[in-house]
Amino acid sequence: MAEGFNQFRADFPILQQTVNGEPLTYLDNAATAQKPNQVISALTDYYRSDNANVHRGVHTLAERATLKYEAARKKVQTFINADESAEVIFTKGATDGLNLVASTYGEENVHEGDEIVISITEHHSNLIPWQQLALRKKATLKYIGLTPNGEIDLDDAARQITDQTKIVAITHASNVMGTITPLKKIGELAHQHGAILVGDGAQAVPHIKVDVQDLDADFYVFSGHKMMAPTGIGVLYGKRQLLEEMPPYQYGGEMIDFVNLFDSTWTQLPWKFEAGTQNIAGAIGLGIAIDYLNTIGMAQVTVHEQQLVDYVLPKLVAIDGVTVFGPHDPSRHTGVIAFNIQGIHPHDVATAFDMDGVAVRAGHHCAQPLMNTLGQVAMVRASFYLYNTQTDADKLLSAIKDTKEFFNYGAVKA
Ligand code: PMP
Repeated sequence: MAEGFNQFRADFPILQQTVNGEPLTYLDNAATAQKPNQVISALTDYYRSDNANVHRGVHTLAERATLKYEAARKKVQTFINADESAEVIFTKGATDGLNLVASTYGEENVHEGDEIVISITEHHSNLIPWQQLALRKKATLKYIGLTPNGEIDLDDAARQITDQTKIVAITHASNVMGTITPLKKIGELAHQHGAILVGDGAQAVPHIKVDVQDLDADFYVFSGHKMMAPTGIGVLYGKRQLLEEMPPYQYGGEMIDFVNLFDSTWTQLPWKFEAGTQNIAGAIGLGIAIDYLNTIGMAQVTVHEQQLVDYVLPKLVAIDGVTVFGPHDPSRHTGVIAFNIQGIHPHDVATAFDMDGVAVRAGHHCAQPLMNTLGQVAMVRASFYLYNTQTDADKLLSAIKDTKEFFNYGAVKA
């Protein structure tokens, strides 16, 4: 089962080390994923052999760099099934893409009295841009609530989305509880009311097959670094017609057609939204990360993570003093699991785990409204990826046992 993927671990040099005398068990993949040799080599090869600025030169290196950069865009297009590569905008990451949409489409289309609908489970990146837009425009920000299971409540979505709604912006998969959103259904509701759907795919694209046309998403964002690409590269997908109608996000080189003294015109998609020198090496690295995922197959990646969750989640739920947030049914999960140990602060848990070489995250996970809703200040989050194994899951379980002993859990409980 989940051990079958051990062959991939050899591709990830960072996983070969020990931490505090223990083999590293990296379970912080929802924060950022590790990089295989293929991606690392693509970066060094690019800088050793091809480095030049794209689109601007006719010399050989400039042409080579441009070809590689645009080939990466094409790989993204195919990977998410966008209709054309012009609908793929390279950004710094999911946050950048969401800010782009809020500052351009949002600025033009949201007016006083309009509604923007998000959910209570959103990452701050898919919350603050809309909150600030709503404040600027005197629009109303509305929140879709959760079912008792911690999943987005579709009945509430139907109540919150109205004819006044202009934008519905929802995460495709939660970065805290690992729940998967029925984004297509929410999109249908949005479209019935004339609103657009913005999908936050930061925690979905690395783990499940995403088809932006099937979702009928108007905009969809994700970050390269959570899918083994470098940091500082991400993608905004947008439907051509919407992107055409939107004003540019930033102004400068690359995004212009003609510059006159007192006005200018903008170049065509996708470059209209790529002002200035882009993260060329990052985009190329993202293309190689996509190649890596394609070699395994996204269906296989999902199955592998599902097997790990099937294995570990029931065991976590059964541990005395451990509270798992979100669904306890493994089939309702990505490889992201949030929990707390009664009486031990999440930061202390994460520090104790580190003594066992286990890397997890503790905190509010950039989702303070969700923490408040669940009555928690912070949580521990373990998140799995394709290079994790059943051994890693067992290590997580033994780290919990060690931590409980270290903090004298029995006495705490009593
Ligand atoms: N949305 C979700 C659901 C996320 O998990 C994250 C990253 N934690 C983001 C948005 C923001 O991604 P980035 O920091 O790469 O821009």
